[in-house]
Amino acid sequence: MPMLYILFAVLVGQGVWQGQARSSEVAPAYYYFHRQPEKALSLYLKKAGAGDTAAAIEGSIILQELGRNREAVTLLEKAISKDPDSLDNEKLALVMAWAHLYSGAAGKAEEFLVKTGKIEDPRALLGLALSRMQARKYDEAAADFEKLSGNRSLSALAYYSLATIAEEKGDTSKAARLYEKALKEDSHFVEGRPRMGRIFESQGRIDDAWKQYSKTAMMDPSQKLAAEKAKSLLAMLTKKPEEILAVKKIKNFSGVKPISEREASPEIRIGIGTTAGGSPVYKDKIVFRVSGPFSVSDAKTGKEAVSGNTNEVWTIAVCGGTDNLCPPPPNPNTEGVGSAPDIKSAAASAPVKGAKLIGPGGNAVYVAPGALLIRAKDRGNATIILETVAYAPGMAWSGVADKELRGDLELVVAPDQKGLFAINRLPLEEYLYGVIAAEMPVHWPAEALKAQAVIVRTYALYLMRNLHPHSAHGYNLCDEQHCQVYAGVAVESAKARSAADLTRGKVLNYAGKAIHAVFSSNCGGHTQSGSGAGWTDLPYWGMVHDGESTAPIESPSGLASFLRTSPQVFCRTSKYTWAPEFRWTRLISAEDLIGRLNRREKIGKLKKILISRSESGRVASLRFIGTAGSVALNKEHEIRRLLGLAPLRSTLFGADVFYDKDFVKGLLVYGAGWGHGVGLCQSGAAGRAEAGQTYDKILPAYYPGTVITDLMTLK
Ligand SMILES: [Zn+2]
Ligand SMILES: [Zn+2]
Repeated sequence: MPMLYILFAVLVGQGVWQGQARSSEVAPAYYYFHRQPEKALSLYLKKAGAGDTAAAIEGSIILQELGRNREAVTLLEKAISKDPDSLDNEKLALVMAWAHLYSGAAGKAEEFLVKTGKIEDPRALLGLALSRMQARKYDEAAADFEKLSGNRSLSALAYYSLATIAEEKGDTSKAARLYEKALKEDSHFVEGRPRMGRIFESQGRIDDAWKQYSKTAMMDPSQKLAAEKAKSLLAMLTKKPEEILAVKKIKNFSGVKPISEREASPEIRIGIGTTAGGSPVYKDKIVFRVSGPFSVSDAKTGKEAVSGNTNEVWTIAVCGGTDNLCPPPPNPNTEGVGSAPDIKSAAASAPVKGAKLIGPGGNAVYVAPGALLIRAKDRGNATIILETVAYAPGMAWSGVADKELRGDLELVVAPDQKGLFAINRLPLEEYLYGVIAAEMPVHWPAEALKAQAVIVRTYALYLMRNLHPHSAHGYNLCDEQHCQVYAGVAVESAKARSAADLTRGKVLNYAGKAIHAVFSSNCGGHTQSGSGAGWTDLPYWGMVHDGESTAPIESPSGLASFLRTSPQVFCRTSKYTWAPEFRWTRLISAEDLIGRLNRREKIGKLKKILISRSESGRVASLRFIGTAGSVALNKEHEIRRLLGLAPLRSTLFGADVFYDKDFVKGLLVYGAGWGHGVGLCQSGAAGRAEAGQTYDKILPAYYPGTVITDLMTLK
């Protein structure tokens, strides 16, 4: 049978594979790329038994991905004994070396690596560095890692490893510097943060230690230890927390102009400062300023409560707690909004529901539960600054900053007095101004930014009209990655605004409807279908190869080398694409991993990690087998979240799993791309724009079968 596996069939998606599945002889790789690694394995083993060395290599890779490393070693040994000359096959020697490395046989690993005769090959050199580290030959290992630090896709790993060697040798100051360096090479390689915290704490650098623990807790809110550490150090800080973890303050208003025909653009409601999942974050108080005179009214009745002036600092605080009591409710004819001049005398009585609005003079006005509307008198030309809004919760780059917004602001008092949250109301086209450059660097080619503008608009419309993800909380979209990142006026620029204006009203249309225009940062070389990501399949979410020609991946080893090299695709590293967004690594200790697994289920010691893959080669499911229990993950975001301290960049990864006798010791993850990989690849859009493609060519390439139309023509 001709070995013709075309993995990437644009438009027809998996058609080629389906054809193969129906024929009597199905290629083993078909099963490997369709979540059936055991079936693929049995076919490869059959071929290996007949003396096929290449099949033995493929089989060994699958065995390792099923946590059966010993069998992998045996299989490779058999292949070598049958055909001693096969060791001249450098691929075999390399796979064999790594198989020994996985089981902790450092000496044997080193022996086979030397046999490859290609020690300058990054994979061989990395193997050598790790085997020397296993053998505690730290100086030699350090020299290898120094060499690897020049390799852009391995540099973060190299610095991180050098840091652990420095720690091992007792030079903690050097270790801390190297952990920092690893973070500079790849901002997502955050595993050094809690280790830096520990080092700084032991050195008495309390402010620095607190910063690292706090950042760790922000990345992963379930990191109780880091949160506790940060809390315990709080009283010992020499500076204010906000001076250490700088809150980005906005001093002056930017000055904005409204879009033309402002009333013609549909209004959109955005939840501000939400959680990673897009839910409201309830705050005790919200502080805001407006760039011009404004009114505050009851959002429901429209009844005006008070009015304020340019740049006055106003606070709304929820009633309740010990020092936040509100006066008894005003008399019923004021319908909830009214002045309450004497708050102090009411402090002794039980807290009442609602909130108090405090103006610049310190006078408080009581407001009933519900929502307040802040609206500038000169609508469209004014902005509102909200103080200290958390952004990117649960991400490697999370923090706190002031947020400047166009449009109106609704301040909602939670019915159960849990707190307050803010909803921004503004025209869709002005919303785009605050999203485009938050989702794509503004120095990227104009055609890529225009493609992004169409997607931001289409995606928002689809969520507003079809999915309603946040209707329970009264807004259409959240301001985080869950929907799309809305950073407000801070990210506006002439270039971003013109991307929106030049595509005004244009949307991606399939069968007369706005499409679900999901997108991700970098597809790593090929996108995936919806079902590949554990979602549903939509006709325009096909698997697309992100290059000029189709590049078949024929086998497990083909995938492994695809992930470890830099193939010619539109989204590869360039002046637009940062190297670790295309190819990256993470080193994860079993201890950290088990800590995260135990929050789901007590699994005891970790015995095995089982991987199965979907058609695009992405990890479709992971099973962790422990001595006390097991955990299975099938969802794209769950897999990324659980493996890393901050989420892994994508599920398009391979994993080198290292064992200490019968237990997993740690894993080296080497991956490709950033994001779920469904729909548009942003780096690829930049690459295509650079190659001369216009936005109306770029978009249908990633969403097969769609057309660009005006939103007024949608059904
Ligand atoms: Zn959302
Ligand atoms: Zn791509």
